[in-house]
Amino acid sequence: MKAGTQAVWAGEKDYLVHGATQVPVVLSVAYGYDDMEEWYDVATGKKKGHIYGRNTNPTVQSFEDKVKILEGAQAATSFSTGMAAISNTLATFLVPGDRIVSIKDTYGGTNKIFTEFLPRQQIEVVLCDTGDHEQIEKEVAKGCKILYLESPTNPTVKITDIERMAKAGKQAGALVIVDNTFATPLLQNPLFLGADLVIHSATKFLGGHADALGGVVCGSEELVEKIYHYREINGATMDPMAAYLMLRGMKTLHLRVRQQCENAMALSKYLQTESLVEGVYYPGLETHPNHEIANKQMKDFGGMLSFAVKGGIDTVRVLLPKLEFANRAANLGAVETTVGPARTTSHIECTPEERAAMGIPEGLIRVSCGIEELEDIIADFQQAFLHVKNLLKV
Ligand SMILES: *Cc1c(COP(=O)(O)O)cnc(C)c1O
Repeated sequence: MKAGTQAVWAGEKDYLVHGATQVPVVLSVAYGYDDMEEWYDVATGKKKGHIYGRNTNPTVQSFEDKVKILEGAQAATSFSTGMAAISNTLATFLVPGDRIVSIKDTYGGTNKIFTEFLPRQQIEVVLCDTGDHEQIEKEVAKGCKILYLESPTNPTVKITDIERMAKAGKQAGALVIVDNTFATPLLQNPLFLGADLVIHSATKFLGGHADALGGVVCGSEELVEKIYHYREINGATMDPMAAYLMLRGMKTLHLRVRQQCENAMALSKYLQTESLVEGVYYPGLETHPNHEIANKQMKDFGGMLSFAVKGGIDTVRVLLPKLEFANRAANLGAVETTVGPARTTSHIECTPEERAAMGIPEGLIRVSCGIEELEDIIADFQQAFLHVKNLLKV
């Protein structure tokens, strides 16, 4: 089966009771047993089944099975949010005295874990310049418990060579973890590139409709079992209704992502011709510094792009409210196009100077392309730019 077909069918059969063609939402918190031996066997893991909703749930398991198959993994476990997936995974493996190597451009919440929460547990965090492969290799070779990557990144859509970095991680005996949220399992499979664990914020492209929060981690039985154990005790469990919405959303994943990639490519090319734009960031463009790596490790370039406008935040203030087909919001990966300035969304916690040091201009706008018709998205941006030009007389 190809991935698009798997997104529709995989992971569901075992959960379809009463002849249902859709996975039922099981809201029951507890599962009863008349046979004390059977109860004991399920509770101790000797027999398949469910005991209590914080541990396992059939609807949630079906979602995990679907993602697991799409990522080509042995096992998967899910979480209440993407951040819970990330923090629980890190907490499963890191102990005081450990060292973790990552990049500066990780998702804002992840970056906060690295700069605020891990250091106070006596864990050394080394954040390399995103895309500086030599620096990452050098830091990893010094020894680390975890090499944590994200590609493409937020908001300037930088690309890291996952295969090359996974090799470096393996050599140093590190666990290699990749946040694959931006790429989706349809465009990039980090486990096939040598990573040990792959994480998604299911809130974004997997769910796809901005109406449910969730996270998921995939990898070997051995690693995922440890993460599951941490989660079942600590309690950041996915809600069954959210799992159902994820399953439903994923059925159209390949159609959505295909359209989002097409829209992002065309919008990027149009933005390059727009006189008020001074930079377009999209890995599908040949001008992108890591276009070749993206081409090698991704099946397409994804629905995320960003661009910088002349006039900085003053232009942003006038431009964004004029867009008709866009939510001005912090979310991404939804069927609707979503836009936001990096200074208000992904990098709100930084000072202007810090953003500048990270290569994020104040006039940077992140675009998560929706599934609208291409012509309408471009026409919408064109009329918004025209409005700015008339108003600012440029
Ligand atoms: C949104 C996001 C997260 C966090 O996910 P939540 O579901 O919001 O907790 C992590 N990584 C990336 C790349 C994201 O975009």
